[in-house]
Order: sequence, then structure tokens, then C-alpha cells
Amino acid sequence: MKTGITHLCIPGPTNIPEKVRRAMNVPMQDMRAPDFPELTLPLFADVKKVFKTETGTVLLFGSSGTGAWEAAISNTLNVGDKVLMSDFGQFSHLWIDMAQRLGLDVDAIDVEWGEGVPLEAYRQKLEADRSHSIKAVFATHNETATGVASDIAGVRAVLDSCDHPALLFVDGVSSIGSLEFRMEDWGVDLAVAGSQKGFMLPAGLGMLGVSAKAIEASKGKTMRTCYFDFGDMLAMNANGYFQYTPPTQLLQGLRASLDLIFEEGLENIIARHHRLAEGVRRGVKGWGLDLCAKHEKWYSDTVSAIVVPEGTDAREVIKIGYERYRTSFGSGLSKVAGKVFRIGHLGDLNEVMCLSALASAEMAMADAGIKVELGSGVAAAQAWYRDANAPALQIAAE
Ligand SMILES: *Cc1c(COP(=O)(O)O)cnc(C)c1O
Repeated sequence: MKTGITHLCIPGPTNIPEKVRRAMNVPMQDMRAPDFPELTLPLFADVKKVFKTETGTVLLFGSSGTGAWEAAISNTLNVGDKVLMSDFGQFSHLWIDMAQRLGLDVDAIDVEWGEGVPLEAYRQKLEADRSHSIKAVFATHNETATGVASDIAGVRAVLDSCDHPALLFVDGVSSIGSLEFRMEDWGVDLAVAGSQKGFMLPAGLGMLGVSAKAIEASKGKTMRTCYFDFGDMLAMNANGYFQYTPPTQLLQGLRASLDLIFEEGLENIIARHHRLAEGVRRGVKGWGLDLCAKHEKWYSDTVSAIVVPEGTDAREVIKIGYERYRTSFGSGLSKVAGKVFRIGHLGDLNEVMCLSALASAEMAMADAGIKVELGSGVAAAQAWYRDANAPALQIAAE
């Protein structure tokens, strides 16, 4: 199958809207030009709206999301600082690994993959920490490896109920711009995002929301920083410039992507992600299969990790999906390799795109020897999408 498009059904990089792609196809521009801030200053202000922070600051680094992880840690903490983290998927796991490599004293709570941030365990640790030796608490909002979304407002509530001053770090790479995320209301101090997920751009912008409290902390830290130094970046950003060459095409793309986001409206985007995700989940149920996420409260509206039956290999499904049906599914990472395949449902997406992912998965699973009735998942999702769209259609007709 060489004709038509390749279906990108992975949870990032996501599909890039045509408008955004065209906006990036522009000549190189002078990043020291007098009118450059006319592009950048509104970008800083508008990205803050997506993070939902008023008193915080947004920094854009030329990096993938991992760079923003590192910037968050190295700018606000000191070598030897005690931090509280939890491991329940490949991304939360890798952030722990980074924190250890950067010299933090990590208390990492092991959680079964398929569950989320362990609020009760966090409460116990924080309550017991009378001397406030824990300097930061980390939470992966949406664990992309397992399709698990956690309760960040709940983490804030735990910190508040213990009257604990630790900084709150949140990985929002696969949630910000797609799921409800409220940096200000949830008292998030360091919020990490990346351009290639909900922002519908290529990889290359590590996006970071930084609270006033985190900026204060950055002034007292002793960990070494250079490329990712907040101070250098803040000083240059104040006038709309960068201390080194920013990826200007990505910034042009970001302008277009933010315009699309505001045109649709964040609330509508969040509702659309829920509607689309629910269709995929009903499809999975129609197949008689389970999600990796262990409980409804953890279902992610941006990615579903689907568990294949015992004795079958999800890698086969992914391989066949790609080679025969030109569909990319996300693979099972680390502990869940071979056990799950993932359907990403975030960004520039609609109902029929989700249906094609389900249709393709059905064929690939059947070819891989998994007992699944062709059409069972597609039909379940179709029924949901028709119902879910019915009220809107009715209003339009009236
Ligand atoms: C994609 C992702 C990352 C890593 O981002 P890169 O841009 O690949 O460095 C981190 N955390 C989560 C939850 C992600 O989904």
C-alpha cells in the first residue's frame, strides 16, 4: 500500500494541521531584528493561557520535552536534595532516572503499571516529613506509556493538607493543551510540556511553566546550569529575545497552533478529546480486550494502551499495522513491551480518524492471530460517536 497517507496513531509526535505546516514554511528570519519581539512576546503571553497560569512565566527551550524536564530540575534544586517521585510507566520512570543522575536523593514509590500517582502514599511521606526535608514532589500527569491520567489537583490538596512547602513538579507533556490542566489553580511550580503532542508541532520546543515560587528557588540553587539557565533566558525573554538562536520556524508554527487552539477553545478541545477517547475505549471493549489503565478514574483521554491476550505479541500487531495497513501504533515500552499496543488520540484529530485506527487495529490483530471479530470495535465506536454528536447536530438543525 503505497498510495494515500500513512496513519499516525501514536501519542506523539501528533498530526500537524495543514495551517500550522504552512505557517512554518517561511524564509529564515533574523532573530535579533527589531520586530522579532512582535512574534515572541505574544507567544509567551498566549502559551501562559494554555498552561492556565497568570502569575507564572513560560520559557521555551530549543529541545524536546526531556530538555524541559532537565531545565526544571537543574534550575530549582540542589545536588543531594530529597525529592518524592513515583514510578508507574516508562515516562515517570525516566524522570526518576534523570533526577538520580543529576544527583538528587530520590524517594521513588513503585506503583503497579496501570495505576497513577499514589496520593495516599504521598500523604504518608509528606505527613511524616516534619522537618520539610523533601524539597520537591513530582507527578506525571499523563503517563503516556500506560494511558494513565493522574489527579494533580489531588497532589496539591495533599501538599496543602500537610502544610508542606515542597515544590510541585508536573510532567504535562502529553496532557497540556489536550486535557484539563490548571497550573495556577493546582499550584504547580514547574509544568513541563513539549511541542510535538497537544501543541501539534514538530518536536523541538521544550516548554516550561515556572511559578513565582520556582523562580525564587532558582535564585538560590547551586546545581550548575548553562544552556538551560533560567536567569539567562528570563533576562533575554523580557525583551522578546533569546540568548541563542531559537527555532524560528517552530515559533511561527506555534503562533499558528495557538491561533487554532483559541479558535476551537480550550474547553471544547478538552471535551473533544474526551469524546474521541471514549469512542476508542468503547471500541476496545467491543473487542473484549482491556486497557492497561486499571481503573476508570485513570483513563487517559489522550492515549489508550490496549492489552493483548496472554500468549499473543503486541509487537506483531504493531509490525503488521505498519507494514500491511500503513498505520503507526505506539509500542509497549519497557515492562509492557509485547503486552500492549497504544493508540494515541490527541491533537488534530476527529471521529473518523479514530475509527480508521480501530479498523486498522482490528485487521492487524486478526492477522496476528488474536481472536477479534472484525467490525466489533469499529461498530461500538461508531455508535458512541453518533450518539455523542447527536445533540450538536440537533442544535445545528434547529
Ligand atoms: C513524550 C513524553 C515525554 C518526553 O518528551 P520528548 O519530547 O520525547 O523528550 C515526557 N513525558 C511524557 C509524559 C511524554 O509523553
